[in-house]
Parts: sequence; structure tokens; C-alpha cells
Amino acid sequence: MKLATRAIHVGQGADPATGAIIVPIYQTSTFTQDAVGVHKGFEYSRSGNPTRTALEVCIASLDGGSDALAYASGLAAETGVLSLLRPGDHVVAGSDLYGGTVRLLRSVFEPLGISTTFVDGTDPDAYAAAMTQRTRLVWIETPSNPLLEITDIRSLADVAHARQALLAVDNTFATPALQLPISLGADIVVYSTTKYMGGHSDVVGGAVVLNDHELAEQLRFHQNATGSIAGPFDAWLTLRGLKTLELRMARHSTNAAALASFVASAHSVDTVYYPGLAGHPGGAVAVTQMRSPGGMVSIRLSGGEAAAHRFIGALQVFSLAESLGGVESLVCYPARMTHASLSADERERRGISGGLVRLSVGIEDVEDLMEDLARGVEAARHA
Ligand SMILES: *Cc1c(COP(=O)(O)O)cnc(C)c1O
Repeated sequence: MKLATRAIHVGQGADPATGAIIVPIYQTSTFTQDAVGVHKGFEYSRSGNPTRTALEVCIASLDGGSDALAYASGLAAETGVLSLLRPGDHVVAGSDLYGGTVRLLRSVFEPLGISTTFVDGTDPDAYAAAMTQRTRLVWIETPSNPLLEITDIRSLADVAHARQALLAVDNTFATPALQLPISLGADIVVYSTTKYMGGHSDVVGGAVVLNDHELAEQLRFHQNATGSIAGPFDAWLTLRGLKTLELRMARHSTNAAALASFVASAHSVDTVYYPGLAGHPGGAVAVTQMRSPGGMVSIRLSGGEAAAHRFIGALQVFSLAESLGGVESLVCYPARMTHASLSADERERRGISGGLVRLSVGIEDVEDLMEDLARGVEAARHA
């Protein structure tokens, strides 16, 4: 079956008790047993819940993995993956990552003896050079946040596997509808399902997909032991969102491509970061590993931070908010919002400063969005 069909059907057979077409929200903490140890596969909702299982089976199928786990948030999912490491182990990670991922590696895992080397840019050779005898994990995010850099997943899988390390890919921006990291050699796929997977800005969640039962069992043990599960209602909302994933991603992409070309010609715009736009340094790789370039566009306004504030202030359809990947269009100022936890130096070095704004292009009518950005770029011109 193709992805759009699997998103609607896999893990989601009719309810055996009632025939309900939609997987029920099993809002229960525990499950009765016929005799001690004799039960229907569920004992207690931390260790397993049917609504969460339905979501996990569906996500594993969408990503072509053997197993998936649904977590309370994207960062809980990342914590699950990092729990595979032990003191003395080393991580090589991209530097243009979600700010919370950098904070987790630096402020939570570094003090526990798990060190990370951040590699600037997307060059596989630079990652290879940062690997040591203790490197057990390579962590990338592609497209990256907020500069939409593209990393070649196949090459990074080779780099990681040459040193017996695992490759984890944060696939939050692309989703399985646009990019399948396991098919490109990745060992672990991580999601903030809060974003496109849920797709409606109404739930916080995360997921990990693997293609190795043994590794999945280690994560399941850790998840049950630490309790970082997705609740039944959150799992249900995410499952409902997944049903339209392919439709939404196609529309996010066509809207974003149209807006990226439109703003690229505006006087007040210095640079447009969008993997589908001619001249994007990652464009050639993006074509080989992504079905379409996705719904995220970043813009550098030539008038610096003041211009960014005027741009944001003039928008009427785009709402100013953190997060991304919902049906509604959002704008954010990464330096003071999503990436505020980085030091000023670090933001400056990575170019997350000045006139940089990030757009999460929604699925509204593209003409309304274009008119809105026309207001924004016009306001940005006039101090
Ligand atoms: C939001 C996000 C996360 C963190 O997910 P939460 O659900 O907020 O915990 C991780 N990676 C990326 C790329 C994200 O956008």
C-alpha cells in the first residue's frame, strides 16, 4: 500500500468491541485481567495503551521501520534516543539544530559525561573528521532549523557506519510524506509530532522510528522505566492528523515554493532560504532525498532586526508564534524566540540574527498568503 493509504488504515482496524471505524481514545489507566497474568495484551497504560499502539504501528509503517515509539514530546523522544548512550560516549551533531536539541545535548547530557561535537555546515567530510573512537551517535536535522540547510542522509549514514556509530535523523521538517531516512541508511528517525505529523497545532508529542527490534526494545525499556509516554488523547489527535499528512505536505510545499519565489524578488529581502529555490546550496541533494522541499521558508530582511519587526507587525494572516507545521501560517523571529537559548555569540556565528525571520507556511489560499507577505516586505522597506 502507498503512504496515503497506510496513513489512514495501518494500525487502525475497526474496534473489535463495537465496530467503530476510528480507533477509540482508550482513556484508562489500567486493564482488567481474567486471572493473574492473563490479559488481552495491555496491563497498565504507562507500559502500553491501545490508542498509543495504533499510533506507533502507523508511524512505523509510514517511515518503513520495524518499530516506533510515541512520546510525550519531541524532546522526550530525543531523550529516549540519547539514553542509549553511556558516560564517555561521544556524539557528532550538526550545528544548525533545533535550539532545544542543542540545550538537551549541552546542558543535560554533557554533565552526565556524554559529550557532543557540533559540526558547522553540511559537509560529510567535516562530520567524519569530528568522529572519535568514542563516537556512538551522529545526529542530523535536515532540512535544518532555521536556515533550511540540507544534509545528505546517505553520505552521513556511510560516515556513521564506517565507525560503527548510529545515524539519527530529526525528520520533523520533512515528515515521511517527503523524506524516508531509513530507506537512505539512517538507523533512527526522530519526530516532534507537535509539528507536521499532528499538523493542527493542538497537541505536543514526539516519536522515534527504528528498523531494529533489539534497539527498539532498549528504548521501550527506557520509556517504561522513565514514563515519557504519549497519553491516549494526544496519541488519538496525532493519529487523526496523520490521516491527512500527505495532502497537507503537498499543499504546504506548493504554497511555500510560491511564496519563496515571490519574496525573493522584493527589495527589502536580502536572502531567501528555501531548498526548492534556484541557487540554494542544498537544492541538488534535496532533489535526491526529498519528494518536495516542504513548508518552511526563512527570509533575511536587508534592514536588520528593526525591519524584521516591521515585517512581522504588518502581517495579518501569518500569526506571530513559536512552533510550526500546523495548517495555519506562522511567523517567528528565531533569535528571540525558538533560538533564544543559544548564546548571542553562537547565534551571530550561525547567522540567526539581524533580519532573519522564519515562516511556517500553512495551507490557506496562497493568494491570501502572498498579499500578506506583500504587506510585510513593504513595511520592512520603510523605517
Ligand atoms: C519542535 C522541535 C523539536 C522539539 O519537539 P517538542 O515537541 O517541542 O518537544 C525537535 N526538533 C525539531 C526540528 C523541532 O522543530
